[in-house]
Amino acid sequence: MLYPTPIAKLIESFTKLPGIGIKTATRLAFYTIGMSDEDVNDFAKNLLAAKRELTYCSICGNLTDDDPCNICTDESRDRSVILVVEDSKDVSAMEKIQEYHGLYHVLHGLISPMNGVSPDDINLKTLITRLMDSEVSEVIVATNATADGEATSMYISRVLKPAGIKVTRLARGLAVGSDIEYADEVTLLRAIENRTEL
Ligand SMILES: [Zn+2]
Repeated sequence: MLYPTPIAKLIESFTKLPGIGIKTATRLAFYTIGMSDEDVNDFAKNLLAAKRELTYCSICGNLTDDDPCNICTDESRDRSVILVVEDSKDVSAMEKIQEYHGLYHVLHGLISPMNGVSPDDINLKTLITRLMDSEVSEVIVATNATADGEATSMYISRVLKPAGIKVTRLARGLAVGSDIEYADEVTLLRAIENRTEL
């Protein structure tokens, strides 16, 4: 079906979002044009502001509007431990349980031999640089329990162990293939408490 260009373009934009097919995109586009001018303005403004004002922390890689981020600059946090996660959404999930008080490192991806993603393709070099002359004694790898999550944790362990840094992995409270982002708080807390040394 042919739509006027503006709505066709809007549909096309919505299809660029993850999990949105042409049908949903069409529904969202028509819904959007039915919204009030004020709501549409806010929507567009928030979209642009989020993209323009957010950056990645130069220390930990977390998404932030301040560089370094407020976790890296928080003097009350335990600087002897770094929790390594796949993306910023995992940081939010961990922060929500309010039981972890160390620092983070966001990889923005996982090593994936199957998909040709090498250690150089993710934010890993900065972790190693970060660990040189720092007071970090433990790195907790909190990648998801998937094949790529495993490959990543094995690699990190192999690189850091010779440097005398204790490398641990979240306990298997998390089901295989499950996402940290969606784990409930009790499961996540148990996974941190029962972490195992690699
Ligand atoms: Zn940071």
